[in-house]
Amino acid sequence: MPAISSNKPYRIGRSKTGLGLFATKPIKKGTKIIRYFGPMLDCRKEKDDAVENKYLFQINGRWTIDGSVRKNIARYINHSCRPNAESDVSARKRTVHIRAIKNIAPGEEINYDYGTEYFKEYLKPIGCKCDSCERKRAKQRAEARAAKTSTAKSATKAKKAKVAKPAAKAKSMAANKSKAASTPSKSRAPKAAANRRAGVKTVKSAKALPKKRARAA
Ligand SMILES: [Zn+2]
Repeated sequence: MPAISSNKPYRIGRSKTGLGLFATKPIKKGTKIIRYFGPMLDCRKEKDDAVENKYLFQINGRWTIDGSVRKNIARYINHSCRPNAESDVSARKRTVHIRAIKNIAPGEEINYDYGTEYFKEYLKPIGCKCDSCERKRAKQRAEARAAKTSTAKSATKAKKAKVAKPAAKAKSMAANKSKAASTPSKSRAPKAAANRRAGVKTVKSAKALPKKRARAA
């Protein structure tokens, strides 16, 4: 693991999906925390364009940072849908800094939003593991349980009162079924074109996905 000098306000640590970057000191909102850096790839060069890994950070239509180098500590930062930092891209200088958008307390994991394309392509299929999404899922599960319980209760009541309504129930079930059947299948997330947007952290091909993907939230 690369060494980090002790005056930096972060350290690499265990996150629930692998490794992540954690604050070791209070970081004020607006602070540039760390630079995301690595060799600059020029997509007009065939050799550069062929590079594939999950740490590619596209700056604009031409330039992409290959952040897979060991010294790029920022590559440890995981995705979050409700992040406490953001990627600050200077297309002119071709630099990317990760900047705090909230006050971050020591011990808190630092994260930023990898962008819609990355999310659609890599996180949605496996389920995003960020705190915000975990909370959302927990809430949905709780609601589903509550709904089940209340349905069971009313069913018992209905039975007791001998007012079962099987016809109505069957009808609504049929309605649900046809609704599900008529829902069009989701089309695949658009790739290259949308990925051309500046500041979207992207991986050039799905081939780069599976192996290390589980690390990021
Ligand atoms: Zn999420």
